[in-house]
Amino acid sequence: MTSKSYVVQMNANGLHGHGVVNGKAAGGAPRGRQGNDVHQVSVNTGPHHAAKARSRRQRWDVRPSEMAVKTRNPIRAIVDGMKLTPNPEKAMIALSIGDPTVFGNLPTDDSVHQALKQAVESQRYNGYAPSIGYQKSREAVANFYNSPLAPLEAKDVVLTSGCSQAIELCINVLSNPGDNILIPCPGFSLYKTIAVAVGVNVKLYNLLPKQSWEVDLEHLESLIDEKTSCLVLTNPSNPCGSVYSKEHLQGILKLASKHCLPILADEIYGDMVFPGCTFHSLATLSSDVPILSCGGLAKRWLVPGWRMGWILIHDRNNVFGSEIRQGLVKLTQVILGACTLVQGALESILLNTPQHFYHSTTSFLKANSEICFKELSTVPGLTPVMPSGAMYIMVGIDIDHFPGFENDVDFTERMVMEQSVFCLPTTVFDYPNYFRIVVTVPEEMMLEACARIRQFCQHHYRPHSQDSSELDQ
Ligand SMILES: *Cc1c(COP(=O)(O)O)cnc(C)c1O
Repeated sequence: MTSKSYVVQMNANGLHGHGVVNGKAAGGAPRGRQGNDVHQVSVNTGPHHAAKARSRRQRWDVRPSEMAVKTRNPIRAIVDGMKLTPNPEKAMIALSIGDPTVFGNLPTDDSVHQALKQAVESQRYNGYAPSIGYQKSREAVANFYNSPLAPLEAKDVVLTSGCSQAIELCINVLSNPGDNILIPCPGFSLYKTIAVAVGVNVKLYNLLPKQSWEVDLEHLESLIDEKTSCLVLTNPSNPCGSVYSKEHLQGILKLASKHCLPILADEIYGDMVFPGCTFHSLATLSSDVPILSCGGLAKRWLVPGWRMGWILIHDRNNVFGSEIRQGLVKLTQVILGACTLVQGALESILLNTPQHFYHSTTSFLKANSEICFKELSTVPGLTPVMPSGAMYIMVGIDIDHFPGFENDVDFTERMVMEQSVFCLPTTVFDYPNYFRIVVTVPEEMMLEACARIRQFCQHHYRPHSQDSSELDQ
């Protein structure tokens, strides 16, 4: 991309004027404002009129906004409230963190690393990119995900700061305050965090653990009303590790089609499925339901810190039309999303990551899941559900057989105190009495953790739920 076309595109996108300093922005940080805004600000708040007319305050009273107060990440809210004091005699094993890089056993591929190095050294990616991302990088994503069943071009791709921002933009472009979105239960907590902060309601549709966490379609349909702005589907799933069959996805699409409901498909774990399983991207199965598919580099390429995500706009019947696309573009103009260095590396990453890298990651995840599933299947009071993809395994707690504990939060808290093993209680996903284990940990650590979980359960398990007299013996 030449620097000339770069400048032209910046202007065409209505982005910030270079060199314009907004006097109100602390530290003069560019905020993506247009020159116009600066002009208006100085007209409306000129120093001569402001001081007298508006100063009614007698004392300091600075409070967080309603939006800040309403913004709540349930993982932090619940985990930070837990008493997590490990047993000093046992090294802590955290099976709770959904970051595949923390143990150092799953580095990204060297080609990914090299691509970023080259982008840095080229010195071509130090400036602002268009708010939706460089044309070339968007083209690379479009080519990577293009398929005859769901064609994609660069114009259908918006680059974002991680998949999280992609999800945020999609919810915001489709929903007004008072609308509702349908989200999975158990499900990734970010959807609710984003929605509630902007006054959008959430309705939780049930997933069925006995059917490999498929969607309860009847329940889902019963929740749809005229205020429903979109259906959020996570496939493969965090926290469940489930991967839906073609038939099941078709069933969901049929409902969406019947009720004219657009879908936000969170496919950050797309293709991250165990050898032997098949991932079907939702858009390849429908020719009428408009779908915003969100993804990114974080999980499949094992670089969550690089903050590269994307929205793929699938809209073959022109339901979204230009208005939704324009809406997305406008939302990206508030804060430029994707880091330009990673954008510069993106084409090379998508072209050059070898198949064996993807395969070795998913083989590892499968092997580790099988170890965990096998070990915990024979632990009294626990019911693990074997995953087919992503990086998690859900484990049910037969809480009636653990009279010493009230719920999953209590249970996992005590497991830290006694065994120094921390599993995430699924109350953080609005779904009690399970815990989620991250299967990216090294194999020896997984084995050790499972042995300690077994010890813990053997100690606290009571065959008959009413028999609570031996408590704390
Ligand atoms: C990790 C994750 C994301 C967020 O991805 P980032 O690119 O790190 O923002 C989104 N959705 C699900 C289901 C995830 O597990």
